[in-house]
Parts: sequence; C-alpha cells; structure tokens
Amino acid sequence: MEVDYRPNFEEQRTRYSFCFTCEDCAHFDGETGECLHGFPNEQHRLSYYVSEIRPGTILFCKDFDLA
Ligand code: SF4
Repeated sequence: MEVDYRPNFEEQRTRYSFCFTCEDCAHFDGETGECLHGFPNEQHRLSYYVSEIRPGTILFCKDFDLA
C-alpha cells in the first residue's frame, strides 16, 4: 500500500516553519527568481511545492544556505 505523505508534510511544513526552498536561501535573487549560482531551481522553489498538483518527492538543494 502506497502512503501519501503530502497532507502530513504540508501540515508540518506550515506548523514548524520548515525552510527548504529558494525563497529562504541566501543565494536566491528575489527580483529575478533565479539562483545566484546559476543552478536550475524550478524544483527548489516554493511554488513547486504549493502548486495544485503537488510533487510526490521533495528535492533538497545541497547548497541551501539559510544564512
Ligand atoms: S543554492 Fe539551491 S536553494 Fe539556494 S537559491 Fe540556489 S538553487 Fe535555490
């Protein structure tokens, strides 16, 4: 049986203010929406995780820096 983690993740992400997307990263350019390192960041953006169709996995960026 496959378990859908997404409702739990969404509830916990909000409750614990979980920071893992570009918007919370020191290397993010909020004006252009791009990564200052030039990394492709579509799957690291918050919009990817709050979209109508939620992804089945979470892709963490190894260079995320909360600063
Ligand atoms: S380093 Fe990673 S998390 Fe930070 S802005 Fe670039 S792609 Fe996003």
